[in-house]
Amino acid sequence: RPGRVYELRLQGAERDQRLLVTRDITEQARLDAMRSDFVANVSHEIRTPITVISGFAETLLSLDLGEAERRQYLESILRQSTTMQRLVEDLLTLSTLEASIDRPPDEPVDIHELLNGLLDEAKVLSSGRHAFTLSLDGPRRVSGIAAELESAARNLLTNAIRYTPDGGTIAASWAVRSEEGWLSVRDTGIGIAPEHLPRIAERFYRVDRGRSRETGGTGLGLAITRRIMLRHQGSLHIASEPGKGSTFSLRLPAVRLLAD
Ligand code: ADP
Repeated sequence: RPGRVYELRLQGAERDQRLLVTRDITEQARLDAMRSDFVANVSHEIRTPITVISGFAETLLSLDLGEAERRQYLESILRQSTTMQRLVEDLLTLSTLEASIDRPPDEPVDIHELLNGLLDEAKVLSSGRHAFTLSLDGPRRVSGIAAELESAARNLLTNAIRYTPDGGTIAASWAVRSEEGWLSVRDTGIGIAPEHLPRIAERFYRVDRGRSRETGGTGLGLAITRRIMLRHQGSLHIASEPGKGSTFSLRLPAVRLLAD
């Protein structure tokens, strides 16, 4: 059938009694392709900082540079090492989440407290370039893994800061609608064109690689966020309008909401 991949095998010892066996291996082929894509992506992501680091280190060794120039080269080396460190950390987080072999997500988490803390962090990161608002409603406790929910929400806030020009507004909120918990981060940033939306939470998918790199992105943040939400039986939702802004929301199902 068109679009499917088959494995063909001849079975049987007798020449005139051989049987041609076909097996549909489309799913296996798809997984293999995804795995090799992933390895190619990781190699590419690691190669870029390594090229810069080794190139600059060689220059420092072979040329007699002035103090200011030496500093500049060293700062680039440091920046690229940080990028690589972050990438390795994100890869580890993602593979642990994908294996999901550790404890089930069932500790009480205070969402009000979590968001208050994250907003303080975000303000420091933005250093006055954006205005922030926070709206907290509904039951404040959910069951989950605090560190994971915190990093899911942190990813949304960091992205809002990264992809919103100076002077923009970032609004975080927590509310319960139709018995489900919604943690949202709305920004007035560059937005995302509709054709990118379906793939935006894939590993290493970025609209603008340069901008993501410049701002310290690894391209794994939303993939991690989506995994965390799946593990909590929830989901990640995105609405966006190019040039106007985006809203990223984390949905937690009713079973995760705890009575106050
Ligand atoms: P990155 O490290 O590149 O930010 P993410 O997985 O967090 O990786 O995000 C993937 C891509 O989604 C980003 O590169 C960017 O193109 C887009 N994106 C994420 N958040 C926003 C946002 N708030 N506004 C506009 N684009 C965004």
